[in-house]
Amino acid sequence: MKISYKQKLSLYFLVIFALFTVGIIVFEQSRETKFRTEALEEKLDAYTGIIQASLEKHTDSTQQAIDSVSGLLPENLRMTIIDRQGKVICDNAVVKGLLSENHAERPEIAQAKITGSGSNIRTSTTNNQKYLYYAKRSNNCFIRVALPYDIQVQNFLKSDNTFLYYILVLFVITLFLINYVADRFGKSIKKLKEFALEENEPEKIMYEFPDDELGEVGRKIIDNYKQIKERKKEVTLEREKLLQHVHSSGEGLCFFSSDRKVGLYNGLFIQYLNTITDESVSDPAIIFTDASFESVLDFLSGTGLNENYYETQIKKQGKHFNIRVNTFEDRSFEIIINDITRQEKTRLLKQEMTSNIAHELRTPVTSIRGYLEIALGQPLDMEKAHDFLTKAHEQTIVLSELIQDMSLITKIEEAPASFKQEPVHIEELLDSLKNDLEEPLSEKNMHVKWKNTKDITVYGNRNLLYSIFRNLTDNVIRYAGTDIAITINKYNEDKDFYYFSYADTGIGIPDEYHLNRLFERFYRVNEGRTRDTGGSGLGLSIVKNAVLFHKGTIVAKNRTGGGLEFLFKLPKTNI
Ligand code: ADP
Repeated sequence: MKISYKQKLSLYFLVIFALFTVGIIVFEQSRETKFRTEALEEKLDAYTGIIQASLEKHTDSTQQAIDSVSGLLPENLRMTIIDRQGKVICDNAVVKGLLSENHAERPEIAQAKITGSGSNIRTSTTNNQKYLYYAKRSNNCFIRVALPYDIQVQNFLKSDNTFLYYILVLFVITLFLINYVADRFGKSIKKLKEFALEENEPEKIMYEFPDDELGEVGRKIIDNYKQIKERKKEVTLEREKLLQHVHSSGEGLCFFSSDRKVGLYNGLFIQYLNTITDESVSDPAIIFTDASFESVLDFLSGTGLNENYYETQIKKQGKHFNIRVNTFEDRSFEIIINDITRQEKTRLLKQEMTSNIAHELRTPVTSIRGYLEIALGQPLDMEKAHDFLTKAHEQTIVLSELIQDMSLITKIEEAPASFKQEPVHIEELLDSLKNDLEEPLSEKNMHVKWKNTKDITVYGNRNLLYSIFRNLTDNVIRYAGTDIAITINKYNEDKDFYYFSYADTGIGIPDEYHLNRLFERFYRVNEGRTRDTGGSGLGLSIVKNAVLFHKGTIVAKNRTGGGLEFLFKLPKTNI
């Protein structure tokens, strides 16, 4: 059976109090006994005084001396006269002559011999009764008196009943007090027990605690419990958020415990693992056995324990993956896989672009330097000096055009938002183009005309739309030859787009291989020849980027009747 805290407390108090009570009773009893014995001894001493007086009176007969006082003294008083050697001279309780044994060694006699008086409680060997003996040294003998001891004890007990009753009453009162105190102390514990055993949201129930230290502890415990519960709720919420984040993440994610057990992971992680491991797997633990992850494993089990981050790249099936490992304080870790194929391609493209730019810059810069060195190195007549400076100036124009084209491409790619868009009237735009290029066009006997473009507007950036038609026309002027007809035709339209063709009757590009690469940056059909004509190699790249900016498409093809044709679409409205 389980006993309650209150019962336990009461029991402890009760035991302590009972022990205390018993202790007091024992102490009191021994004190009382001592006190009564002393009182008795005093009485017995008085009796010996009376006997001594009688002995002094009846010096001739001891028996007579005793007999004469027996009427004065208690009936059950035993009187013994013993001589200095211990021999019993006379004893009123025993028939004369029976007490032959020497009494010198009796404790009370031995004591009286030294101090003058002595006492002892024991059972008499003569009549087997328990006595309190008291002996006193007289002139030439010992006077010993004795009273049966049991009667004294009975009396003693009888006289102490009130004390016991008193103790008993005290005991009962204490019992009530203990009950009250235990109740007070037990109340907080009881409430805490109720709280602990409550299964249905105990934090929502009000528990009243007494206003004492235990009550304070109780309140604190419940407060702490509430806080822990709230934290737990928060942690669960955070976990859910994390879960959502993991599943919707654009990265392949997987968490592992310190003993490499698989925790949370997302579908993308498995998808990437399938590509990397060449197997259709569904368990992220494959990374611990697949050779592609060897360096990751080396990091995890190796010396890099002080490092908490590792990054590596894996190339597989034409794809490029970036692997990141983050280790946490408890040695658990996460692995993040990213498909960086596109970024990698862009990076390579940028790398290529940078080396192309360097290459493109080299020619004009070297020329300028050459012309200037000649001009500075030797005395030249005015005409020659002018000639060199003009050539150097021409190269600076090439340089600035190149820079302009490059910055335009970069701007379209990196900051498309900076191009304001609006409805642009196409015929107006073509009119101004014709005006701007009137001189070179007529020089080469070229004629530009447009069809089906009446009153149409394209939604876009005017400068970019202009640069589409301008670059295409510049190219015709540069590469197509002479006596050329240029036709711009809006040959089709649908809900969102106008479809345009831009055709010339020039030399075209006979080789299909070149046709497919026309839009690449710095690509030229005929390196040497076209460089001389002044193109940067970026014209068609700008055209393509500008069309793409307007969410359109563009292709180039050779016309059946000769010449080059570009087909592209541009939006009617903001789509
Ligand atoms: P660039 O800016 O140097 O003119 P582009 O990218 O505009 O370079 O053109 C790439 C190449 O395409 C040119 O080197 C040229 O040989 C060829 N090309 C472009 N347009 C025409 C055209 N209308 N007729 C013939 N060839 C052309």
